[in-house]
Amino acid sequence: MLEVVIIGSGFGGIISAIRLLKAGIDDFVLLERDEQMGGTWWRNSYPGAAVDVPSILYSISGEPHDWTRAFALQEEILDYTNKVIDKYELRSRTRLKAEVVSMNYQDASASWVIKTSDGQSYESRNVINASGGLSQAKIPAFEGLDSFRGKTMHTSQWDHSFDYENKRVAVIGTGASAVQVIPSIVEKVKKLEVFQRTPHWILKRPDRIFSSWERKLRKKKWINTFLRNAMYLFMEWRILGFRYFPAFLDIVPTLEAKAHIRKSLDTKELQGLMTPEYRPGCKRILMSNEYYQVFNEAKVVLRDKSQPIACFYENGIALQNGQEIPLDLVIFATGFHAAENNIPYPIIGKEGRSIEEEWKSAAHAFWGTMVPGFPNLFLISGPNTGIGHTSALVMIEAQLDYVIRMIKHKKANEKTSIEVRRGAEEAFNEKIQKALKGTVWQSGGCKSWYQRADGKNTTLYPDFTIGFIRNCRNARFEDHIFS
Ligand code: NAP
Repeated sequence: MLEVVIIGSGFGGIISAIRLLKAGIDDFVLLERDEQMGGTWWRNSYPGAAVDVPSILYSISGEPHDWTRAFALQEEILDYTNKVIDKYELRSRTRLKAEVVSMNYQDASASWVIKTSDGQSYESRNVINASGGLSQAKIPAFEGLDSFRGKTMHTSQWDHSFDYENKRVAVIGTGASAVQVIPSIVEKVKKLEVFQRTPHWILKRPDRIFSSWERKLRKKKWINTFLRNAMYLFMEWRILGFRYFPAFLDIVPTLEAKAHIRKSLDTKELQGLMTPEYRPGCKRILMSNEYYQVFNEAKVVLRDKSQPIACFYENGIALQNGQEIPLDLVIFATGFHAAENNIPYPIIGKEGRSIEEEWKSAAHAFWGTMVPGFPNLFLISGPNTGIGHTSALVMIEAQLDYVIRMIKHKKANEKTSIEVRRGAEEAFNEKIQKALKGTVWQSGGCKSWYQRADGKNTTLYPDFTIGFIRNCRNARFEDHIFS
């Protein structure tokens, strides 16, 4: 029997593996459904893919990197993760193309049996599920989609063998992925149709390439640590706007974003169509220096909510006003399943109860990590651990403090199972939902992927991450049952 099975080899899985090794636990395997390690940053290889959090903070603590620019592109992030994977020799511990198909808790042995698509079965005392909060592509069920004879792809499943040069292309969606992919493909395509259901607020991207002397300085450990901590503190205060004083968002970001729109879009009509009617931050604030300018080109057509899609037909997309748009390629930049249960395989816990059943009314977990009735299972980037104001890796690392603390305590006390107490978990979630109430995400006047269809927010952590880190580091043993 293994000590730990880690599911997923993105940042969550990699950080889990490093932390286990540092805690002296080396009896583990990583299961990865794809043919390469890297998770999100391996999958999302669409043109223009880049991080929108400064790289100095979007990296693993203790694993600095010689970043070439302020906001790294996908290739550089993947190089970085590969470097870390090799440093800790994680490839030999990883089973590729091993998609989990089921996970069952064994009450008698207090262990999990994990079955994978390649017919293998693993038994483990603990499972760290790091399958990713944004890993299940969402493709809307448009009528007639099957009849379309052109090419379709989701941004997270980019087919690099398809040449879009001189093709008639549509992009559905205008969120974080779309604002990156659209400026990156526009030059090559013949015609670009962009379907915008709701505009996003977009700020300028303060990206730049680091000079050689700056990179030299950043290689000094103390300078790198100082800059990283300064960036963390700078990002951290932004929660004040999102959670405590949302009206502030009507001033600085709104004025900045409106000026960006005025300066970048040539016509008043476009400026109007691309100005959101909700408060900035309600949906993720995006960053781009090239997105708006694309719409000034004659070959680019913005289809806003007044021209909704009726259906697909064999040669393209038909609008509700009857117009037919012939197309060669349709790109779904339509996001991911996030707020509902986003773990795609059945997880059966104690006494045969499934996580689907447990999460029927909404996903929930103690510090986003442990669910009552599911002993020895730790969710990385679980419910309400998403973050709107800083780096997601800050949250992942804090969760790992909690996970390692619990696994070590269980071992040291010769116990076989650890489970969060239902009362503690419910009290925690009540607090989270109460805190979310006044935030811009819940009251900013929009509908976003942060929320379920019923409006409940199961994705974001609504407070300073400093508190999350402190609580994870000092997670109370008495909130758990060790047996
Ligand atoms: P997204 O931001 O949720 O955008 C999805 C887009 O598709 C929205 O414009 C949405 O319109 C539209 N859409 C969805 N269903 C539709 C339908 N049935 N008909 C028409 N339009 C539809 O998704 P994403 O761009 O994949 O980004 C998701 C998250 O991933 C981001 O918020 C971010 O956290 C992360 N991400 C990060 C980066 C980065 O770091 N640079 C890059 C990409 C993604 P509505 O707004 O009207 O729903």
